[in-house]
Amino acid sequence: MLDHRGNVFVLSAPSGAGKSTLARRLVRETPGLIFSTSFTTRAPRPGERQGQDYFFVDDPTFDRMVAEEGFVEWVRVYEHRYGTGRAWLEKTLASGVDVLLDIETTGALNIRRAIPDATMIFLLPPSAQELERRLRGRGSDGEEQIAGRLRHARHEMELFEAYDYLVVNDDLDLAFRKLQGVVLAVRAGRERMAGTAEGILGTFQK
Ligand code: 5GP
Repeated sequence: MLDHRGNVFVLSAPSGAGKSTLARRLVRETPGLIFSTSFTTRAPRPGERQGQDYFFVDDPTFDRMVAEEGFVEWVRVYEHRYGTGRAWLEKTLASGVDVLLDIETTGALNIRRAIPDATMIFLLPPSAQELERRLRGRGSDGEEQIAGRLRHARHEMELFEAYDYLVVNDDLDLAFRKLQGVVLAVRAGRERMAGTAEGILGTFQK
């Protein structure tokens, strides 16, 4: 179990559902919410920056971190590994800042075990047909890759019941408002606000 003051938000979605766009906007437009930068053994894509998009590390470094329990969770996706670093997350949450984890479903389920009160949000495409259209529109994948992504998307979608909030991305602005609405509502939760409310109560005369 991870001790924390800040809130943990997990955002998962099948590839092509619009997760990166929405996650970036959510962090940009929500003060006090920052991204957790994961570690990965995959190579940077053009434009990706070390320490910004990921901490890009080699296999021996990743192995060492696993051995030293340096990850809150980690997974293998195809031939690469991805992991949420423990040290930064603990430090950031202890300082009271909220953290957004953009991770796939297996990792998300493991976060649920490590941080039971994490808020889990699943972003859904409006339909398989629309997801396929978006994947084709990106123009970055061949037929085989698109078929693979659709199969994988189905597996991921089957896990929606493990999540607390389900947001359908049929309208980008509306999906954004729902996501931000979840973050703001969690922050206003009674347990989290009880201390503040007690403090305010204390300013009233008996
Ligand atoms: P990509 O290689 O496209 O950046 O990411 C592939 C998948 O790995 C995405 O679904 C992304 O959310 C997921 N991912 C990125 N970092 C982590 C992590 O630290 N843990 C887990 N479980 N998944 C991650």
